[in-house]
Formats: sequence, structure tokens, C-alpha cells
Amino acid sequence: MRSEKLQTFVLSSLDYGDSDRIVSLFSLEHGRIKAFARGARKSRKRFGPALEPFARIVIQAHIKEGLSSLQQADIISIYPAIRADLGRIAHALYACELVDVITPEGHPVPRLFRLLAAYLERLETTAAIEDDRRFFEINLLNILGYRPSLETCSRCDAPFDVGGAVLQDGGEALCRFCSAGGRPLAPAALTTLAACLKTGIFGQIHFPPEVLQQAGNLLNEAISAHSGRRLKSLEFLQQISR
Ligand SMILES: [Zn+2]
Repeated sequence: MRSEKLQTFVLSSLDYGDSDRIVSLFSLEHGRIKAFARGARKSRKRFGPALEPFARIVIQAHIKEGLSSLQQADIISIYPAIRADLGRIAHALYACELVDVITPEGHPVPRLFRLLAAYLERLETTAAIEDDRRFFEINLLNILGYRPSLETCSRCDAPFDVGGAVLQDGGEALCRFCSAGGRPLAPAALTTLAACLKTGIFGQIHFPPEVLQQAGNLLNEAISAHSGRRLKSLEFLQQISR
């Protein structure tokens, strides 16, 4: 067992027994890991508020497959502006839960680490909007290799540029000839999503309302196909958005 210093985000935190906690962390160095924080509940002195969801922390830990052991946690940011706004909290919790359920354990994904960092920075400095959430999602799917085809039909390879596409359950986009029904995806929805992949900067892509709706349908389908279960934070997010 070796002791290492890691850059991490807290994805979720679970009470264990009377005095301990198990935290899920997304680290730059090893991707998603689980860590045991002995005494984290009993003594706030030891870890303080460092183990709250979406906190950015530097940890010292004994790294072990399955369950690492947390020795020390130093806060880089707890994102105080996010924590003062219910809409921003809902979006930050959703982003963390999505990373928690969709990434493989123990595999570093530095580009996704930077994307999550950029999204939390964005939420810290500006109100939560759906454009940013969708920007985060399409980039996340792309980085993990789960991005649906935005340019051509995944069955016959016909380009979507003129007629757009038809969304299937499960997030697949097909041309009109290959699909036997489904929800429409206008060319603008597909090109807006493609544009999100060309810039790594939040706030540069604007989704018109009808594009936001259609792009959202595609992302919802693709994410639920790959996350395997319904995200708890999604209900909170939908309540907030109503
Ligand atoms: Zn086709």
C-alpha cells in the first residue's frame, strides 16, 4: 500500500457506522476512487467540511484497489457561491452524481477532471442555466467515448446535414429512412451539440429554445443508456427547474 497526494473532487459521501464515512472521489491521477475516512463523523476537526459533495480537495491517502484510506484532506474550494443558491447546488450535485455513476473505477480521465473543474468554476461565477448543463453533458459523453453520432446515420451513414435525424430510445440518432419513428432532431440541434465539442469554454455556445429541447432529449436518452440507473439528483434538478 502506498501513500499518495491526489487532486480530487468529492462526488458523494456516505455515513459508515457511528464515526466514519466512505467517500467517492474523482481524482486527476486515478479517476474515480472510494476512500474510507476514519473518524470523519465523530471529529469534525479531522476533515472539517472537506468531504461535502462537490468540494475540491487535495488528499493524502493510502491508495488501494476497492477502498483507499484517507489520511488528510485539504480544501482547495468548497464553492461558497454554489452553496448559497439552490439551483446551482442542484446542478453541481447532478454533475457529480453523473461522473460518479458513469465513469469506471480506477481509470484516470484527466480531460473529464478538467471539464468538471470548469463546470464548477462556471457555476461558482454565474447562475445555473440549461445551456451549460447540456454543454457539460455532451462533452462528458464525448470524452468517455459515449457520444451519439451527430453527423451521420449510425446505420446507413447518410449525412444529417439537410433533413436532420430521428431520435431512437437509447439515444441513437438515425436518418428518416432507417428509423420507424421517434422524436425529431433538427439539423440545428445536431450542429449546436457538435459546436460544443469544438470549444472547451463554457458560455460560448447558445442553445435557442427549440434546439435546447431537442438536444436535451438526445442527451437524456444517451445518458440514461450509459448510466444504468436513474440519477437521484435528477429529480431534485427537475423540481428546481419547474
Ligand atoms: Zn440511415
